[in-house]
Amino acid sequence: MADPRLHVHADGAVSVVGRPDAVAQCLEHLRRTSAHFRALIPDEATDPLKVLAALPVTTKADFRGPLRVEAFEALDTHMFVSDRSSGSTSRPVLSLCRTGDDLAEQHATEAAFARVGLGPDDHFVCMDLGAAEIYDFYFRAARALGTPRCSFLHVTAEYARSVSPLLHLRPTVLLTVPTLLVRAWPHLVAQWPDAATCPVRSLIFMGEPMHPSFRKMVEETWGCRIFSFYGTTETGGLGTECGQADGVHFDPDHVLVTIADADHLDAHTVEGEGLFTTLRTHSQGVVKYRVGDRVRVSTAPCACGDPQPRLWHLERVHDAFVIAGEKFRYQAFREALQAVVPELHLFTVVVEESTDGPPTDRLTVVLPRTAEPHGDAIRDALTESIFELDALFRYGVLGLTLQFEDPSYFTGRKVPRVVDRRRYGADS
Ligand SMILES: [Zn+2]
Repeated sequence: MADPRLHVHADGAVSVVGRPDAVAQCLEHLRRTSAHFRALIPDEATDPLKVLAALPVTTKADFRGPLRVEAFEALDTHMFVSDRSSGSTSRPVLSLCRTGDDLAEQHATEAAFARVGLGPDDHFVCMDLGAAEIYDFYFRAARALGTPRCSFLHVTAEYARSVSPLLHLRPTVLLTVPTLLVRAWPHLVAQWPDAATCPVRSLIFMGEPMHPSFRKMVEETWGCRIFSFYGTTETGGLGTECGQADGVHFDPDHVLVTIADADHLDAHTVEGEGLFTTLRTHSQGVVKYRVGDRVRVSTAPCACGDPQPRLWHLERVHDAFVIAGEKFRYQAFREALQAVVPELHLFTVVVEESTDGPPTDRLTVVLPRTAEPHGDAIRDALTESIFELDALFRYGVLGLTLQFEDPSYFTGRKVPRVVDRRRYGADS
């Protein structure tokens, strides 16, 4: 029997619905307050889920353009907070939020941090590259839970030096981005080699998925619990994992999650590109916002007993590319490379057109200099162990280059996984 909480739209998209009137109220609010949405939402009361399905996705261009102008106008003389961050892209996003919405966001984040067990006995440390001001928001949520000590550690490209204060801060709860932790790891584990020496009992990561093998290694080495926190600048925080570490619990009345081109895994679970509608944020609301993440959602019961549905962040939508009709996932490259160099966690796959005759396309894998001694084995692994890739190399459709770079190449907050520079590629 179909799960009533998974609403299948006529176009095959699936929404995880909560209270029946939450969507109707959100659409009515948008129609009343936004000229942008008023032009798209019909006057007559029709089935809100049908209206939602017919609405176009809110794009980054909408968010940065007409919706921001409307948000500025609506602020009038009211107090507001602004949040400027990467928005998961190379171009920063500015998000405007009236205090009421900001407090609603803070409550959602408090609930997420409470799930992790953050409390009065903790020292909460956030470690990131830039964007210090967004942590003021996280600190407010932590303080509301009674956490007295909150610190921000600004990491720079000189990891050994910039990460070292963490050893003295001795956080019990650490929040960071997986890419940064991968780079900080060798410096931290040298001082904290086991659970007896490491003070961190809970690690919260956000911004991108953490690879299961790295996650397992950190968990086992430090003996800490690891929680995924999912949220974006444009849609706010969605939630964190529970103690089962099996999906982020979220409130479907706070953010409506719609899966485009949904693949049904079972009666309760679908997978596809995640589109997000902020039901309770009215300052700069979005409808079916395309954040660029491939996610899985499920209404199946969780072993923790919490009935809220769960979300798994699988990969960035652009962490895959197509050559000659074959789809390749970054994940497949990672498995092939880690079979040769197990500690390899950061690398970039670049796809571009050849400039001088055949082969048509060129695949460049950018790797850290430390992997250079394994160059031949890496080349063999890439040409032979990814089945469809093997054929492309063999038939001369594709050329392969290995590029070894110093640590300074991998300086960004999130190292790009796939860069598609072809004329019709995602990054051209
Ligand atoms: Zn749970």
